[in-house]
Amino acid sequence: MKRLKENFQKPHILIVGAGIIGKFNAIELSELGYQITIADPALDKNSSSAALGLLMGNIYHKRNGRSWILRKQSLELWPKWIKLLQEFNTKLHIEKPLIQLTKNDAKFEKLKQFVNDNKNQGLEILDKDSIIIKNINKTFNTKNIKGVISHKDGRIDPLSLLDTLNIYLKNKKINFINDEIIKIKRINKKWISISKSNNKIKTDAIVLCNSLDAVNLILEKTYKIQLKPVLGQAIEVCTSLHEVNFLSLPKHFNIDGKNIIPLTNNKIIIGSTDEYHKKPEENVFEKLTNFIENKPNWLSKERVTRKWFGIRSRPEGEPSPVQKNLENGLIICTGFYKNGFLLAPSCSHWVANELKEYFI
Ligand SMILES: Cc1cc2nc3c(=O)[nH]c(=O)nc-3n(C[C@H](O)[C@H](O)[C@H](O)COP(=O)(O)OP(=O)(O)OC[C@H]3O[C@@H](n4cnc5c(N)ncnc54)[C@H](O)[C@@H]3O)c2cc1C
Repeated sequence: MKRLKENFQKPHILIVGAGIIGKFNAIELSELGYQITIADPALDKNSSSAALGLLMGNIYHKRNGRSWILRKQSLELWPKWIKLLQEFNTKLHIEKPLIQLTKNDAKFEKLKQFVNDNKNQGLEILDKDSIIIKNINKTFNTKNIKGVISHKDGRIDPLSLLDTLNIYLKNKKINFINDEIIKIKRINKKWISISKSNNKIKTDAIVLCNSLDAVNLILEKTYKIQLKPVLGQAIEVCTSLHEVNFLSLPKHFNIDGKNIIPLTNNKIIIGSTDEYHKKPEENVFEKLTNFIENKPNWLSKERVTRKWFGIRSRPEGEPSPVQKNLENGLIICTGFYKNGFLLAPSCSHWVANELKEYFI
C-alpha cells in the first residue's frame, strides 16, 4: 500500500457499511493516508458475521475473465493482509489446504481434468484409498466420495478476522458512526450524507459497501443496478455419541457444495443454503444434509445445537460482484453474493486505485 504524498491534503471518505467489504476498504484507504469515516447501524446482523470463512480461489475452474482476475489478485494480496493484521492478532492465519469432494462421477471427471490441465498449481487428486477419504466415508456413512486437494486455498476463522479488523480500525482511530445513512447528495463538489438520526457528514467521496441497501442510496434508473437477496443458513451439530471423532477429519472441506467444518471431536458445522428470499426456510437440516442418503446416527435434526443465517446480495443481469465508479467520487462495491471474504482484498485494492485516479 503506497501512501499519499505528505503535502497532499487528506481527502475525507465515507464508507457506508462495515461488513467485511467496508472494513477492508476502510483499512486500506486509511493506510494510504485518507481520512476515513465508516457508518453502520447493525454490525453483528450482517452476512459477514454469518460466513464460514472458506477462501476458494485457486480451485475456481475458470482461468480467465474478470472473476478469475479478482480471485487471482486476492490470492496474491491475502498474505500481505495477514501480515498487516498480525500486528493485532498474532494467531490470525489461513488454514490450508482446502479439500473439494463429490459423490458424482461426472463431476469428479471434470475435477480430474481441471487438475491435469493446471499442473504445478498446488492441486492434487485425492487417492480413493487415502486416510482422508476413508475417514470421511466412515463418518458420513458414504461410499463413493472422491475429490481433490487445493494446497493454495483454505479457511480463515471469520469471527476472529472480523474482531481483528475491529481492533485495527479502533487502534488507527478510524471514525465510526453507529447509524444508518439514509440519503446522499452532492453539493459544491462535496458529498453530504444524512443519517437516520439526522447527522450530516461532509466528505470528498463515498464508497457504498452496504450490500442490498446500496441501491436505495443511488438513482436506480440512472445506474440500472439491481440486487436480489440470497439468504444463506448454516447449522452446528453436536453429538454425545462416542462412535465418531470429527477431529479425524480434515480441518474443512466441501462435499457437493456443502462446506463442512469440524470444530471439536463432537461438534461440526455444515453450511450453507442459497434461499432467494429474506425469511429463513424451515427445512434447513434436510437441505444441508441431502447429500447423504443413509444418515449416520450422529446426524439427526435433534442434534442441531445452533443455526444461523445471513442475507447476501446478488446482482441481477450482471456478474457478481458490482464494483463501479458511478460519478465524481461515488463508488459502489456490492453484490458479494458468494466469496466476499475471498474477494475483500482485491475489492479494496480496486477502490484505492479508482480514488487515486479521482484525486490526482
Ligand atoms: C451462511 C453463510 C456462509 C458464507 N460463507 C462464506 C465463505 O465461506 N467464504 C466467503 O468468502 N464468503 C462466504 N459467505 C458470503 C459472505 O458472507 C459475503 O460475501 C460477505 O459477507 C459480503 O460482505 P458485505 O460487506 O458486502 O456485506 P455485509 O456483511 O452484509 O455488510 C453490509 C453492511 O452494510 C450495513 N448497512 C446496510 N445499509 C446501511 C446504511 N444505509 N447505512 C450504513 N450501513 C448500512 C449493514 O448493517 C451491514 O453491516 C457466506 C455467507 C453466508 C450467509
